[in-house]
This record gives sequence, C-alpha cells and structure tokens, in this order.
Amino acid sequence: MLMSEVNHQTIVTVPHLKDYDSLQDSFSWKKVHEKLEGLPDGQGMNIAHEAVDRHAAGALKNHVAIRWVMKNRSTKDFTYNDLHRSSNQFANVLTMLGVTKGETVFTLLNRVPELYIAALGTLKKTAIFCPLFSVFGPEPVYQRLSRGEAKVVVTTLDQFYKKIKPQLDRLPKLQKILLTDAEAHINDHVLSLPYLMLKASSGFTIPPTNEDDPALLHFTSGTTGMPKGALHVHKAVLIHFITGQLVLDFHPDDIYWCTADPGWVTGTSYGIIAPLVNGVTNIVDEEEFDAARWYSILEEHKVNVWYTAPTAFRRLMRMNIKPRKQYNLEHLRLVLSVGEPLHAEAVRWGEETFEVPVLDNWWQTETGGIMISNYRNMPVKPGSMGKPLPGIEAAIAEVTDDKFRIIDKPGKDGHLVLKKGWPSMFKTYLHEEERYNKCFRGEWYVTGDLANRDKDGYYWFVGRADDIIKTSGHMVGPFEVESALMEHPAIAEAAVIGKPDPTIGEMVKAFVVLKPKNKADDNLRLDIIAHARKKLGAAVAPKEIAFTDHLPKTRSGKILRRLLKARELGLPEGDLSTLERP
Ligand code: ATP
Ligand code: MG
Repeated sequence: MLMSEVNHQTIVTVPHLKDYDSLQDSFSWKKVHEKLEGLPDGQGMNIAHEAVDRHAAGALKNHVAIRWVMKNRSTKDFTYNDLHRSSNQFANVLTMLGVTKGETVFTLLNRVPELYIAALGTLKKTAIFCPLFSVFGPEPVYQRLSRGEAKVVVTTLDQFYKKIKPQLDRLPKLQKILLTDAEAHINDHVLSLPYLMLKASSGFTIPPTNEDDPALLHFTSGTTGMPKGALHVHKAVLIHFITGQLVLDFHPDDIYWCTADPGWVTGTSYGIIAPLVNGVTNIVDEEEFDAARWYSILEEHKVNVWYTAPTAFRRLMRMNIKPRKQYNLEHLRLVLSVGEPLHAEAVRWGEETFEVPVLDNWWQTETGGIMISNYRNMPVKPGSMGKPLPGIEAAIAEVTDDKFRIIDKPGKDGHLVLKKGWPSMFKTYLHEEERYNKCFRGEWYVTGDLANRDKDGYYWFVGRADDIIKTSGHMVGPFEVESALMEHPAIAEAAVIGKPDPTIGEMVKAFVVLKPKNKADDNLRLDIIAHARKKLGAAVAPKEIAFTDHLPKTRSGKILRRLLKARELGLPEGDLSTLERP
C-alpha cells in the first residue's frame, strides 16, 4: 500500500519543538506517559505493544513499518500488521520452546527481517532481547552469550552458526539455536525457525508487563575497556517515543533511516523502537557502509530523516561526491549524528552538502536514549552537543573519590552528570552490581564523559574522563585538539593521546590520517603543528604528529584512543572484541 493512502489518526501528536524554553516549562513524564496506550485493561506497558500492536489495530495497519533493502538493493516491505502477526508467531515459538519471563533471547544476524521480528516477539513474551553484531568473532560472541545467559539464539546456518557451535560446551544455559535459513531441524537443539514459525499461531496476547520489567540487554562499545552489559526496562519506550518527536522530528508519512546496527544501542533504540512507536516507515539496509549506495538509498527511498554517526561523516567528507548535485535528495529534511563528537567542521560540511540542518546529539548505552541534543527549531551551535531533552536534568560536576559538587559557572569543564530516574535509565550492569553502583553519587548519575556548559545552556563535549591529558598543569580534552586539527585542509581524521613525559607530565601526541593527494613529510608535519599552535596555543597543541593510514576504531566507528596509547607505550592492548579491523 502506498504511504499516501493511509491516514494517521492514531499517531499521537505532541507539540513539535517550537520553543525549547516553553516546552521545558510545560514538560512532564506523566503527560508523555498518557500519550502512549499501555496494555489493555491496565496490564502495564510493553515496548512491542506501543511499537507495533497499537498501530496494527488502528489506522496504520497497512502502513509500511519496515522497508528492508537487501544486499542486492531489491526491497521488501512489512506493514504494521505484518510485523504484528509475525512477532506474535515468534512469541508463540518462544512459548513452545519453554522460554519464560526474564530469560534472554539473542540474535546473531545481519540486518534482516528476522532480527526485527525476533526483537518484537521477545519483548512481547517479556523475555529479554539482546542483539549481537554479526561480524563479531567467536570469542566476543561467546563472551556475550555467556554473560547474558542466553537461552535462545537466532542465527544462520550458512554464515554464523559456526561461531557458536565450537562454544556449545561452554554455554550450558543455551538451550535452543534457531536457524533462519534451515528448512528442517538439525537436531533437538538446533532448529529451523521457518518451520517453527509455520506451526505458530499469529495470535498472541501480551502478558501483563510491569513497566520496570527488563526488556533489552546491550553491551557498551568497549571504547574505554571491557564492554559492560547494560539492562533496560520497558518504560524506556517513553524516551524513544518523545525523542522521536522532539529530536528526530517525526511527522506522519515520514521515511526514516538509521544506519546503526541493532548490535549497538542506537540500532535498537533508534533503528527499531523510536520509528515504530512513532508510526513512521523505517528503512533497514542490510549492507555495510558504501557511499554511493547510501546516497542512492537516500534518493530512491525519499528519506526524510537520516540518523547516522561521525564515522560516516568522516568517510563521506573524504570523498569527492557532491550529493545534492549527483543525487536527488529533495526529500531530506534533517540529518542527525551520534556516537562520537561531531566536529564543527563536519557540521558545516553536512549543512553545506545536504542543505538541511545537521543535529548532533549525545547519549550512551547506559542512558538508553537521547539525553542532550540540538533541536530542529533551536539555533545550532556547530561542535556543541546541544541542550538536555525536556524532562532531563543535566549538570557539570566536580567528581573525585571523596568529593561531589555541581559546578554552576558557565564554561568550566567537569564531569557530565544526569539526575537519576529518567525512563530509559539502565537498571544495572549485568553481573557487575558494584560497577553500577559506582556510577551514582546521591541522586546523580556520573556519565564518565567530561563537558562544559556555556552561558546559553549548550553542552560541549571535552572528552572521556579516561582520555583526558594532563600536560604542564593543563587538563586537555582530546576533542578540542582533534577539532582544531580537523580544520587543517590536509587532515581527514585525527586522534590525540597523552604520552608520559618526565618534565610536563604528559605530552600531547596526535595521530592523523591525511586526505588523498597529501604527502606525509616533515614540511606538512611542521605546518600542522604551526596550525595547531595558532588555534590552541603552544601548551595544548600536539608536540608530536604521527601519520597513519587508519585509526583503530570500534565496530560502531569510535576511535580507540586507549589502543593507540597502549601501542605507543608498549602496554597490553586490553579487550579488543569490538575492534573494527583486528
Ligand atoms: P565503553 O563504555 O565500553 O567504553 P562507549 O562509551 O563508547 O564504550 P557507547 O555507550 O556506545 O559505548 O557510547 C557512548 C559514548 O559515546 C558516550 O559516553 C560518549 O563518550 C560518546 N558519545 C556519544 N555521542 C556523542 C556526542 N554526540 N558527542 C560526543 N561524544 C559522544
Ligand atoms: Mg561508555
């Protein structure tokens, strides 16, 4: 069915963000809560009901919920009703297999429809859903299945089962492996999902769900160390819903595309839940990054709102493509970014290139959804993360082992902290209660990031507390230095670390990747240092520049400064399970 053939009576509308301050004043979580339906007869709140079932029962029944773009670029549409029925079937399959509330169901799949169906069906069953990025090797897969106490894994025979099979002896809790590409069961434990789905009814009644029941498990990116398993509850959907309205600016009939894989929290919160709960059409691309393909998808599917990451910006910026000239992107209204700081340079490039606002926003696995953002109807300060979501209280604090103090003075660096209790706040780090408790100081959650707030209330990222460089008595955030380096015409990417130095404590060292056609020689090195000194002053500018072909990154595209540092100092490399190119 064509998008234009349906009307959108059931889409709940919240006033789109017109004036940040007035919205902030009138905002209450209770009101957001009332915009969602809840389970029938006051049986609680379940993400899958809000995301799918209530739409399937209303005017969006035949509206396209997911448009799957396959590797070969052909597409397949799933309406809200299709998703409703198939996720019911999956929930019934779980019942047949004896899965009960609070047990964990994993997927190890590419971005294929079964992943989305499994996610929604698991939520309906009130089991816990945990998607794994399919490119993980056997050890990271084992680590996560084991820590997450997987009872069921959905995967493929052809590509991914081989990563699990050798580990089965070490996974005593894993009872069933469901293969999406097997016609028949292999044995009592390794089963054909299509076969089970055929046998399962497409009717399912979601059991009573407490909004504080666990729903999702996500492992952090492992940028600063061993990934943590953050557990989220059903009421997180309030954040996904309201950020869909206020940040992603969803309108009825919107076509939306989030490029993140559900193996990272962004790909679940904003690649599954937020678009569906807001009743828009969600593009799912099975393929990895490819500039021409990406621009073509934006064009062909008339994408209105596009959510991506700085790593994609950096890759696109390096290419000599003029998307507005070479592609018809007239439908694009908004581009958003998350995952790492989006340098002012990248914001300006994006605005010029796409001729639409480019909005950076900040959040983490632990926060479950967007916490700080630039908004459509608020002046954007390029390089800033923006302002807290209405309903979210953020602050800058001085945090040491024995001290906690909120810093009121604008412009002063400190720890970014959030007032406890927002709906999508993580409930725990799985099996790491102590680590979890350590994140809180009284009523505040300490994010592990450093930032400052300017006099207009905008937050500016300084760096991760772990990455901060102490040089000649200054605290230097890598972001500031990297941003300045990125403004040099020859530099495509930059990462900065502190290298121990007997006289100044730590010396700022930069690793840079050059844009094509630049020669890595001493002249350029001196030119870059001079540029940085002019921008940053001699104390903060890097003293050493190393040219490199690529920077080590996580699978979600984050620069692994800790690995650059470990290599520089000849120290152990630590957990590399999320490294993009081992
Ligand atoms: P780990 O916690 O395992 O070290 P990680 O922190 O990279 O990994 P995620 O939860 O995926 O895992 O990433 C959240 C972090 O990413 C934030 O805490 C912040 O450091 C960074 N980040 C996300 N968005 C932004 C942004 N817009 N600007 C600056 N930093 C960002
Ligand atoms: Mg983190």
